[in-house]
Amino acid sequence: MNATIAAREPAAMIRFITKVYARCLLAGFALIPASLIAYLFFFQDPALKFEDHLFHEIAIAAATVEGLFVACVTWLCYRSSGEPLLRWLTLGFLGFVLIYALHGLFTGMAHHNMWLFLLYGPASRLVMSALLLVGLLSYNRPPDSVAKRTDPRGWLAWIAVFALADLAVAWLAYSAIAGSLAVRLSLEGGALVLCALNVAVLTLRRIYTPLMVIYGISVTSFALASLAFILGRPWNHMWWLAHAIFAGGFFLLSYGVVQAFHTTRSFATIYSQTELMARLAEATSRTESALQELQRTNDKLRHMATTDPLTGAANRREFIERVEAEIRRAQHGGAPFSLLSLDLDHFKAINDTYGHQAGDEVLREFVQKCLDAIRPYDGVARVGGEEFMVLLPQAGLDAALAIGERIRSVIAGSAFEAGSGRRGEVTVSVGASQFGRDGNTMDMVLRAADERLYCAKRLGRNRVVVA
Ligand code: GH3
Ligand code: MG
Ligand code: MG
Repeated sequence: MNATIAAREPAAMIRFITKVYARCLLAGFALIPASLIAYLFFFQDPALKFEDHLFHEIAIAAATVEGLFVACVTWLCYRSSGEPLLRWLTLGFLGFVLIYALHGLFTGMAHHNMWLFLLYGPASRLVMSALLLVGLLSYNRPPDSVAKRTDPRGWLAWIAVFALADLAVAWLAYSAIAGSLAVRLSLEGGALVLCALNVAVLTLRRIYTPLMVIYGISVTSFALASLAFILGRPWNHMWWLAHAIFAGGFFLLSYGVVQAFHTTRSFATIYSQTELMARLAEATSRTESALQELQRTNDKLRHMATTDPLTGAANRREFIERVEAEIRRAQHGGAPFSLLSLDLDHFKAINDTYGHQAGDEVLREFVQKCLDAIRPYDGVARVGGEEFMVLLPQAGLDAALAIGERIRSVIAGSAFEAGSGRRGEVTVSVGASQFGRDGNTMDMVLRAADERLYCAKRLGRNRVVVA
């Protein structure tokens, strides 16, 4: 057993190395755009330009439509799960779209006021990365109330904030400092720093759920896009590459949102395969123990439904079922079976003399002595107050007589503890019948045993009657 487990479970060292390898791969994927940036930076003339206004306008229009669509899907996820991260993500996408759209809209103004065209780009990325960071800090917080999710006022307030940001950028574009490197750097550099902070928070909080890994790769792309924008000049290839890197990150993040939409509508509860395996194992073991518990309860219920609580003997219903089974067996050519009908003699007098509790004790002892006197596959049932039946499979009337006599003599020959040091005596009368000989229905064979029991009573009790 241990050997097979050892063979199946790789060493902790291998598990650790594969884990580190997987993390390195993720970091590698996230940093692929950096190689493109480095390539353009080191090997291409920054003066090379591709200035095409229509292409830029179409691309930004497409980005706007895409952004609105993704914001909408994110909002649907948020409305369903109430996850605060998704609220901030929705706002991030919405803010980005409402500011970035003007970057496209003012493309034609590039030669009139370069900054009116340019500044909306970094402004939109700054706003989005700030909102994403706030969202990330709320990761795993309890869900928002349904009232908060559906209240439009919060959203309208934020749309107003984004409109103000649009006005602020326009004001900045026409201000004296518009062209200063400080403005561009603080917007684009701010976006870069905020995205880097996002990655740092993910790493420090060790958030590695699948959708958050996608989130991490996306914000890394956003950071690298900002870096490319800083290194690029309007319309040159680095500048276009920056757009492409940003779009790549955006598409990836939207892929994550769509995954959430089609599953739990939450970023935090999409589990990794490792976690799913652990949860599955946990659920399986819970199911197993619940099944065992159910089995125990069933056994208990079955015991309660088939036995007499005072003596532990089978009850009448159980006895009838066993006799029915014996009848079927006998009808299919099995050996005949016999029954004993037993009734304690003058039991009322025992109760009257020694008390009800002593009477109960006599009933318990009686069952115990019967069990000692019969064979393991015979059965004792309590069918009335002080009335019992014994089923004797594969026993003819002779054997029944012998067993009945054994029970009778054991009972008659032993005193019972009657409390306060007193000892009492009790006897039992027994009637026996045999299936086949005394009839071949349940009724007939039971009646024959009962009639012989009454016969035993009439003849003076403390005896076994078989005919
Ligand atoms: P007989 O020899 O004719 O059978 O006389 P008997 O007194 O045994 O018969 P009877 O039917 O008159 O009385 C049965 C008594 O059994 C009456 C009842 O109080 C008692 N009894 C029935 N069930 C229980 C029980 O669970 N515990 C005790 N202690 N007594 C019981
Ligand atoms: Mg009796
Ligand atoms: Mg009776």
